[in-house]
Amino acid sequence: MNKFETNDATCGWIKSLSPRLAKPAFKGHRRTKWLIIGAGYSGLSAALTLAENNPNDHILLVDANKAGEGASSRNSGYLVDSTLNDGHLSDTGLMAYRKKYELNQQAVLCVKSLIEKYNISCEWNECGKFYATANPEYKDKLIKFHKLLDDLKIENSLVEQQALSERLGTGFYQLAVKTQGGAMIQPAKLARGMLEILPDNVELYENSAVLSIVKGQPHKVQFSDGEILADKVIVAVNGFMPSMGIKKNRVFPLLLSASLTRPLSIEEQQKMNHAQEWAVLSANAMGATIRTTHDKRIMIRNTVEVVSKLYFTAAELAQRQKTHLKGLRKRFKFLPDDIFESTWSGVTCISANNANIFEEIDQNLWAIGCYNGGGIGLSVMFGQQIAHLAMDQPASLTKKITQRPQAKWLPPQPFLSLGIKAKLAKDKLGATLDN
Ligand SMILES: Cc1cc2nc3c(=O)[nH]c(=O)nc-3n(C[C@H](O)[C@H](O)[C@H](O)COP(=O)(O)OP(=O)(O)OC[C@H]3O[C@@H](n4cnc5c(N)ncnc54)[C@H](O)[C@@H]3O)c2cc1C
Repeated sequence: MNKFETNDATCGWIKSLSPRLAKPAFKGHRRTKWLIIGAGYSGLSAALTLAENNPNDHILLVDANKAGEGASSRNSGYLVDSTLNDGHLSDTGLMAYRKKYELNQQAVLCVKSLIEKYNISCEWNECGKFYATANPEYKDKLIKFHKLLDDLKIENSLVEQQALSERLGTGFYQLAVKTQGGAMIQPAKLARGMLEILPDNVELYENSAVLSIVKGQPHKVQFSDGEILADKVIVAVNGFMPSMGIKKNRVFPLLLSASLTRPLSIEEQQKMNHAQEWAVLSANAMGATIRTTHDKRIMIRNTVEVVSKLYFTAAELAQRQKTHLKGLRKRFKFLPDDIFESTWSGVTCISANNANIFEEIDQNLWAIGCYNGGGIGLSVMFGQQIAHLAMDQPASLTKKITQRPQAKWLPPQPFLSLGIKAKLAKDKLGATLDN
């Protein structure tokens, strides 16, 4: 594997899609007006916006792997508006929270209008989500969160243990705040849907890792077997920005892993009170994310790591699966050891102060990404907005995005990794009960 490769056959969400053949890799020399690097939600959204607004232009879109099959197909599928934990940080300040909430709400709407306009079927479910804890020490945090949401008139309710037990089919949690906004999705279906609606003037190259960008007019973008000269380049590689030498001292990648069970049997569903689809986020940033699916499976993610490479081997994934199983069995003791059908990893991107990247980093060279804990909604919205900016037609939302705080400076390696590892280790200790 090269350093940009992460695709493998492990992800349960991707496995449920019909197989598709990758488009050929980029070879040779090309001159183009538009180039987008990275075909996750961000790059796909930018490509769609550019293509629709410039029907006579060719938009080149390249991805180091199979398009859409990075984090965009591997995430947990929580399209959130209100947030309690962002990556490993908490929110402060009512004004800041309100602004962030409003932007997230706009992002949810961007995804909703996209799927409605193009009929993308991605198991959209507005079932709400529970921020929950099994740890009495976190009850206070949840009560404060409930009050914050009330102050902001954001629909929510406190849910006590008994009611939670009936709704989720487990007596594990002691308290939760249920919020109604946002939606749950099957992430790979959204990514595949976005790929399938690209107009013919988008030319996609897969398994085509960009090795370097020589800045200039035009920018010279180099591949192992060729080069593209592009007037305007949008970099949408999220957690891979530092590997490409972009925002190295502002953002860093985290490697997350998750597991998905087989569909539960009728007997198992009965033991869970035949619960309707639900989604739980932890009151602790390092606690488990756990949800059910349309087809009665359970997905759990309770592992997050800083590692020097951006994928796990099969043996490393098997180790992570043990942690997932432990978390699952804490909640549902009756489930067997061999319940998981798939375990996978994915790369996400974090900054120290929960800020995003949305800027022109050089003349006619833009970068978007770093969505911290979230990203489904923001990446679709940022893709649309950066395309408008690159067309010199900033839309009303662009200003709101550019007014957000800039990502803070980070110390160089190896101090950065050491610092993050220490912080994650401390947070994980606090999350032991919720994992
Ligand atoms: C396990 C997991 C769970 C998550 N859960 C949630 C969740 O529940 N809710 C939520 O909102 N967000 C979640 N996220 C985050 C969310 O998935 C991301 O924020 C979102 O997918 C970002 O989309 P993107 O297009 O910017 O990046 P990506 O989907 O990572 O796409 C970037 C693309 O760039 C390509 N690339 C990288 N380097 C190069 C190169 N050199 N040349 C060419 N191409 C390159 C990659 O192959 C990739 O396809 C989760 C992430 C993970 C990993």
